[in-house]
Amino acid sequence: MGDFYEGRIFRPPSEAYSLIVQSTIGCSHNRCAFCTMYKEKQFRIRSTEDVIADLERARGFASSIKRIFFADGDAFIRKSEEQLKISAAVRRIFPECERVSMYASPKSVLIKTDDELKALHDAGTELLYMGLESGDENVLRRINKGATAEEIILAGQRAKQAGFAVSLTAILGLAGDEGSAAHAKATAEAVSSMKPDYFGLLSLMLEPGCPMYDEYRAGRLKPVGPATALEECRIMLENMDSEGTVFRANHASNYINLKGTLNTDTPRMLREIDRALSGRAPIKDEAWRRL
Ligand code: SF4
Repeated sequence: MGDFYEGRIFRPPSEAYSLIVQSTIGCSHNRCAFCTMYKEKQFRIRSTEDVIADLERARGFASSIKRIFFADGDAFIRKSEEQLKISAAVRRIFPECERVSMYASPKSVLIKTDDELKALHDAGTELLYMGLESGDENVLRRINKGATAEEIILAGQRAKQAGFAVSLTAILGLAGDEGSAAHAKATAEAVSSMKPDYFGLLSLMLEPGCPMYDEYRAGRLKPVGPATALEECRIMLENMDSEGTVFRANHASNYINLKGTLNTDTPRMLREIDRALSGRAPIKDEAWRRL
């Protein structure tokens, strides 16, 4: 698929076996202080015709496509009438497809009416990936998220009401040692309000090319160590009330792997954190953490 894509492609782990088609190039925001994903790309929305042409080309070599992921960042920002045309093309070209998903910024949801959201869902988009990062307004401002917690929560709630499954992510370590507990509690509160279908936790890793990396190099930002990251995760889990949410903290960036279903598996996951914190279970070595 190399020549289908412009630049580096990012996708959620659960889209490993999906057909990936670029609906947008880059990220409409592209200013989060910890993120380098689309730095080399100037954001634009590809023409509907080009996206459909890619789907048709892909049909030529794919015998069966069960999942389609529309990249890049914020593919949901596309105008609804255009997305509806693309959804109709997906149904025509890949009648066997069972799931269509994409990244959605809070703005991309909030600018649409409830009727538009429902029509987009009913036309075949099943799953929206959304970044909360933190429920703490101070943290969101500091990382330049471009949205408040209130806006992200509302976007998630409206997406769910329209029928979408919502997969949400947040990041451990974003608030440093001092802000850790507040970040954990506010994030738990936001998740409890949104009740996403999936909630994934990553741990902060800084790469050259983002403002937070420059802060770190200048000695103004001290990344949290494993103990703070695990304690932060513990506080989040303790304070989250989101029955049925599939919880994952098994990303390569995390110090330990956790997975389960909230709230049923929460006590077991808390025990696993306690075992790691007390040295009775291994914590991933820094060298093995990867983005
Ligand atoms: S974290 Fe998401 S919204 Fe923020 S700049 Fe990166 S891709 Fe864009």
